[in-house]
Amino acid sequence: AKQQGRNTYRFHTHALTRAAAERLSLETRLRHGLDRGEFLLHYQPLVDATTGKALGVEALVRWQPPGEDLVPPGRFIPLTEETGLIVRLGAFVLRAACMQAQAWREQGLALGTVAVNLSARQFMDDGLVEEVKTALAISGLPPHCLELELTESLLMEQAPRTIATLSALKQLGLRLAIDDFGTGYSSLAYIKRFSIDKLKIDQSFVRSLERSADDKAIVATIVAMARTLRLEVLAEGVETDAQASILASLGCVEHQGYLYARPLPPAELETWLRSHGR
Ligand code: C2E
Ligand code: CA
Ligand code: CA
Ligand code: CA
Repeated sequence: AKQQGRNTYRFHTHALTRAAAERLSLETRLRHGLDRGEFLLHYQPLVDATTGKALGVEALVRWQPPGEDLVPPGRFIPLTEETGLIVRLGAFVLRAACMQAQAWREQGLALGTVAVNLSARQFMDDGLVEEVKTALAISGLPPHCLELELTESLLMEQAPRTIATLSALKQLGLRLAIDDFGTGYSSLAYIKRFSIDKLKIDQSFVRSLERSADDKAIVATIVAMARTLRLEVLAEGVETDAQASILASLGCVEHQGYLYARPLPPAELETWLRSHGR
């Protein structure tokens, strides 16, 4: 038994060492990737279901290591958050999204707002507000065309710094949306206090809309709440016509999901916008 215990222990040590080594090498590759410009953005349309036209686009980051497949954000965002690399990556995303959106506007494409995801970790950095200002200044994008997507957990943090940062951002004239709404615990009080413009209903509630009376009730409640607070409300992850029509019957007509379009590289989004611009 003793012998076996030691082997087990050794096995775990080995596995841990390997995990740590893989983590370190991913971190190194991400750092180099940032230096070498290996990150890019795809854009997914946000659609008015009543007209089929674009209300905006959401910028979603991808990583393209040379000679490899495109890496989705779920595989690297968590590590960039843990290591603080998200601050540099986030600055890149902000600038690239604002510059792309303004370039489209100048070409006469009616894309509406461009939405950018912000991690809680970016709010712990002193430079965030300056970074947003810079992105707007160098791109020339009007602030009301930029929407920042935050998570509920961020609002609940209540650190004086978070509160000050949110109000400074809001004062720039941009829009704030709460992402993945319904999965956290934000209270009405916070939503009012931070001048939130939009709630994005998490795709987990949309997925089972046809089968689950509970999820349908949750969506109905969120929509009613949004109406009371005079907030926009958008449903994420809309994949089927059935989901779209249930959402519309509940009063939610801003949709995002594969039913309308997947996240697309800029050239393809451009083509999509030419037939779906407002
Ligand atoms: P998110 O912000 O909730 O973005 C929506 C995700 O749902 C995207 O995954 C999108 O491709 C996916 N999606 C859209 N429509 C559908 C649909 O109809 N069905 C299904 N099943 N999925 C759909 P993606 O691009 O892999 O991004 C995953 C997450 O990574 C994002 O979730 C966001 O939390 C994070 N992320 C992406 N880009 C950035 C970024 O620039 N900065 C930060 N901090 N996080 C980012
Ligand atoms: Ca988002
Ligand atoms: Ca989301
Ligand atoms: Ca999400």
